[in-house]
Amino acid sequence: MVGLGVDVHPFEAGRTLYLAGLEWPGETGLAGHSDGDAAAHAACDALLSAAGLGDLGTHFGTSRPQWAGAPGTALLRETARLVAEAGWAIGNVAVYVIGNRPKIGTRRAEAVAVLSEALAGAPVSLSATTTDGLGLTGRGEGITAMATALVVRR
Ligand code: MG
Repeated sequence: MVGLGVDVHPFEAGRTLYLAGLEWPGETGLAGHSDGDAAAHAACDALLSAAGLGDLGTHFGTSRPQWAGAPGTALLRETARLVAEAGWAIGNVAVYVIGNRPKIGTRRAEAVAVLSEALAGAPVSLSATTTDGLGLTGRGEGITAMATALVVRR
């Protein structure tokens, strides 16, 4: 089964940036109910979508205050647990970040390692692009992330 996830968070001055499981010193952070890690959130949503387990709001929404401020990697760990509990193994997760900054390629291997570790070693790939100045990401207002995930019956 294939799943799709999308997430968008606006930049907010004064916040620390967490993206793709990493802290990015010197970059503007993202606002959000949790740490704003749009890439991790899109990956969670793709996995929940693939496994037919609803979405991020179902499991970690504002009605579950215990997840407020939670790191994206914690959400990924819990998502991997939910997916496994439902009888699925993760085939792979592909994450795509759209935005001007940060430059994902500079820390791609590090991010992939952290994301994969949070998913119990599942294969993860991480890609990124800009939008040539167009749209909310092109204007530097925030970051969009998309992800696909493949899960197979165990
Ligand atoms: Mg989010």
